[in-house]
Amino acid sequence: MGQGFDIHRLVPDRKLILGGIEIPHETGLSGHSDADVLLHALMNALLGAVGKGDIGTHFPDTDPRFKGVSSVTLIGQVLQLTREAGFAVVNADITVIAQRPRLAPHYGAIRTRLAKLMEVPAEVVNLKAGTMEGLGSIGEGKAIAAMAVVLLHAG
Ligand code: MG
Repeated sequence: MGQGFDIHRLVPDRKLILGGIEIPHETGLSGHSDADVLLHALMNALLGAVGKGDIGTHFPDTDPRFKGVSSVTLIGQVLQLTREAGFAVVNADITVIAQRPRLAPHYGAIRTRLAKLMEVPAEVVNLKAGTMEGLGSIGEGKAIAAMAVVLLHAG
């Protein structure tokens, strides 16, 4: 099993991409890649489960190859790595911490996307979201964070 965490700043003039889905919002996440904080937390969990470090090691933000890259491409590489290590996904549980926008209307689309990427039924991909009750930088709408736990099985 593995757990992952990530946080990105919300800034104007960027798309908000979460779980490979573009979500309408007046700000988006800033980062070297598309800054999909949900997929980054999930990738960190997958890498943790197979004992292969973190996304910063595999996809350094100093490497121009990863500038503006879709995190869907990156998680594809991480999933390839987990398959090569002899593991498959049992289930994943993901929490997004965002004051806004409301994510519940997008749960279905994100779960379907993640399930397809991980080659599992949507029922084993659980998605939750919470606010920070207005507290701190996430509560002030300056950032979004995500946490993920994954369980893998051999073969
Ligand atoms: Mg990140």
